[in-house]
Amino acid sequence: MSRFFSDKYKTLTPYTPGEQPRDQKYIKLNTNESPFPPSPKAVAMTAEAAKNLQLYPDPECTELHEKLAALYGVDKSMVLAGNGSDEVLNFAFMAYCDKEHPARFANITYGFYSVFAEINGVPYTEVPLKDDFTIDVCDYISKNETIFIANPNAPTGIALTSLEIEAIVKSNPDNVVVIDEAYVDFGAESAVPLIKKYDNLLVTQTFSKSRSMAGARLGVAIGNAALIQDLNTIKYSTNPYNINRMTMAAGIGVLADEEYTKNNCNSIIENREYAMSRMRKMGFEMTPSLTNFIFAKHDNISGGDLYSELRKRGILVRHFSKPRLDAYNRITVGSMEQMVTLCDTLEEILKEI
Ligand code: PMP
Repeated sequence: MSRFFSDKYKTLTPYTPGEQPRDQKYIKLNTNESPFPPSPKAVAMTAEAAKNLQLYPDPECTELHEKLAALYGVDKSMVLAGNGSDEVLNFAFMAYCDKEHPARFANITYGFYSVFAEINGVPYTEVPLKDDFTIDVCDYISKNETIFIANPNAPTGIALTSLEIEAIVKSNPDNVVVIDEAYVDFGAESAVPLIKKYDNLLVTQTFSKSRSMAGARLGVAIGNAALIQDLNTIKYSTNPYNINRMTMAAGIGVLADEEYTKNNCNSIIENREYAMSRMRKMGFEMTPSLTNFIFAKHDNISGGDLYSELRKRGILVRHFSKPRLDAYNRITVGSMEQMVTLCDTLEEILKEI
């Protein structure tokens, strides 16, 4: 730390992204990326957009916002593209939280929420999940706080139903409820249809998982036009050109290829069920995942040891050394070939111990 660093950031613990190894070729199942390449339409449009990089991108993201609005069946004043959903989530912490509106989220959830709260000086409550890692809806009913729920949750993969989300949104009419749907395309119910009914609901989604665009950094917030206007005030006060030309083009390209996205999501669901069914036979305990990852533990081997054994054999997964999580590993669902290798390797490890 330099002697110039502002006091207000001195105690900040930044978010730790999953490893992006450069030393060796791993089967990379640690950061919930898609095993499939981006849509050929996205790739072609990105290459075309690169020819005009001397020009700033459209700060209003006009065409992308139109395509997003069409996707969600809302007006284009109800969507805002972000540099990853991380950016729109940070905007939401900036826009809707302060000392009078503290943040509330689960104690086991996306690790960035507490970092966003800290960097923005927002007080927050971390609500314990139940013993089975589910969210107790009652913990979020009629609270005078800004609520953040990852649905499905990470790293558990468990989702609330849209009825449960509606109960939370309805009971907090004077507070914003942010539903982070980063993993919604792999089987959970989206809260987007509720947006027309509730002016306090903001939904965020990402192009990083189901649309194979983690490297492009594209996310979106969907909500009532007034909420989106607030987020725009933050955007134009920090980074008006938050979506670069190539990412914008890639986003427009992949939205013209919904068939491709749907097929990939179906493959992930199929591969998840295949891997989970083999892992169940091996004695793994897993949460009921509706995402592109599996949260698993085994009584015969610790989470940390399983992580190391897999790594030695060229498979990278995510292990969190935190209470309640350290018995588990979070394993991204990859291609069928990767899942076959994963399961064969797990069988081998279990035989050896
Ligand atoms: N929310 C959750 C629950 C996530 O796991 C992630 C990805 N790490 C994000 C949001 C952010 O995704 P991105 O910024 O790539 O859109």
